Amino acid sequence: MSTDPVLVVHGGAWAIPDDMVAAHLNGVRNAMAAGWNVLARGGDALDAVEEAVVVLEDDETFDAGRGSFLNRDGKVQLDALIMDGATLRAGGVGCVERLRNPVRAARKILSESPHVYFVAEGAERFAAEHGIALCKNEDLIIQREVERLKEYQANGEHQPDLFAGMLSHDTVGAVALDRSGNIAASTSTGGTLNKAPGRLGDSSLIGCGCYADNKTAAASTTGWGEPIMKLVLAKWAADRVAAGNLPEWAAAEAINYLQKRLDGHGGMILLDARGRFGISHNTPRMAWAVRTTKEEMSGISR
Ligand code: ASP
Repeated sequence: MSTDPVLVVHGGAWAIPDDMVAAHLNGVRNAMAAGWNVLARGGDALDAVEEAVVVLEDDETFDAGRGSFLNRDGKVQLDALIMDGATLRAGGVGCVERLRNPVRAARKILSESPHVYFVAEGAERFAAEHGIALCKNEDLIIQREVERLKEYQANGEHQPDLFAGMLSHDTVGAVALDRSGNIAASTSTGGTLNKAPGRLGDSSLIGCGCYADNKTAAASTTGWGEPIMKLVLAKWAADRVAAGNLPEWAAAEAINYLQKRLDGHGGMILLDARGRFGISHNTPRMAWAVRTTKEEMSGISR
């Protein structure tokens, strides 16, 4: 029996300024087009989330791939995860500095390695050995981010809240359901501005920033990573779906929990294998797009 496909993507949760709304909407719609193209021709959920995330990584609007936030040393350090809800296979990379599309390396790990997670040079070596070209770290750095870091570091202790305030741009992710009834998820990020070198956020950690299990749900989160990771938030939400709750409710509850328990800020997309989805955030805005066989929507708040 064939299932109607569904794809949900996000491009980060924060106070997206008015003059950046169009770029964010454009980005999530382009990602939707790439991912939907896969699903519409009967492709896998896994391929759909990978293709959607590649488009977002390639778009400098977002904090993923080229154009990401810089760490304290002025370098881009990227994290990404992709997970298959049918088999629970996953591939993750952390703190990579020479990959334009970390999700491509994550996918290779999922498909071709007995391991689940690679970091730093080991991840880059794995990618190179599996046919992925390495770039220079400078190829990932753009002037906007050089200036942003300079300004941030000049402000010293007096920093606005990155996710509630105007400073941030954000992580990307996608969740998909394919015609075979399988779900998948992926999240990719440059992490947080001025992070310490080697700092890993929630995004690429299984169950924190990304999760997929056909028996529960597929989730991708964005926002301040430390609280999200402490609450294992993606798995927390998926478990609520397994307990019989609607993804719409579970996503909202997860973000409430994040706020109440740890005063965290962020957003989540959540999708189950019946095609029911939720989109939730407690930041002023979050860029998102959804497509089903019946409708196509996108927006910057929900
Ligand atoms: N969650 C990411 C991190 O903490 C940041 C983000 O969502 O923008 O690395």
